[in-house]
Amino acid sequence: MTATAVRPTPRSTTTPMVQSVDVRKHFGKLEVLKGINLEVAPRDVFCLVGPSGSGKSTFLRCINHLEKVDGGQLSVDGELVGYRRDGDALRELHDKEIARKREEIGMVFQRFNLFPHMTALANVMEAPIRVKKEGKAVVRERAMALLDRVGLRDKSNAYPNQLSGGQQQRVAIARALAMQPKLMLFDEPTSALDPELVGEVLDVMRGLAEDGMTMIVVTHEMGFAREVGDALVFMDGGVVVEAGHPRDVLTRPQHDRTKAFLGKVL
Ligand code: ADP
Ligand code: MG
Repeated sequence: MTATAVRPTPRSTTTPMVQSVDVRKHFGKLEVLKGINLEVAPRDVFCLVGPSGSGKSTFLRCINHLEKVDGGQLSVDGELVGYRRDGDALRELHDKEIARKREEIGMVFQRFNLFPHMTALANVMEAPIRVKKEGKAVVRERAMALLDRVGLRDKSNAYPNQLSGGQQQRVAIARALAMQPKLMLFDEPTSALDPELVGEVLDVMRGLAEDGMTMIVVTHEMGFAREVGDALVFMDGGVVVEAGHPRDVLTRPQHDRTKAFLGKVL
């Protein structure tokens, strides 16, 4: 892997990359996030684990304002998500400003979500050209470097249906990186993969972590969390039950709910 094209640009090393203060979210009567407090430091790999339905995906979606929070405050790199301060009041940003901020955050989902009618290279080039209006030549060069980085330079002209799930997911990571995000969100990026393909995707993520990318990773891969994670949060029922260094949480969980969950996934 070559160390090209990834340039995380945190504002400073002291401003948290993500800060969540008492973040609340409900869908109708269902309270999904019940006051989430956490902080992600720049360059950290922050692992988020918990049972299905505990609010992990919703929380990730709040970070890039795909969901609006109902209470509390969420900021990315020192700026409020979706709002700006106006004296004492908070004003919601216009769609354009929200979209521009969202460009700074890369997201990789469980399903690969590549454009099926485009080659791997075209998938990676699409957003910088369409959204950022960058020049084709410079984007192509960056896209090839990123495909190389995820080990798929020789697949640049392949279509998604000619690629394995693991290869597609690596293209999806390259595609997110093409926008040169300062934060990457991964929502169970290996959960839809055949077991033998999980490792190649985790290896790419490990490389990104080594290069200093700030990452929030929702995963059930506790080996990855232990080896690569700087922090691990266990969420259940819309609250943070336990947080700490992955080694500590995984080997000495303090809460019964954490123990029960880890007992199932480890
Ligand atoms: P996780 O990712 O931890 O499995 P989610 O954040 O996807 O959990 O979901 C948390 C809860 O919120 C679940 O009960 C889910 O059904 C509910 N939920 C998620 N999105 C919506 C939505 N758009 N409308 C209504 N309920 C939702
Ligand atoms: Mg989820």
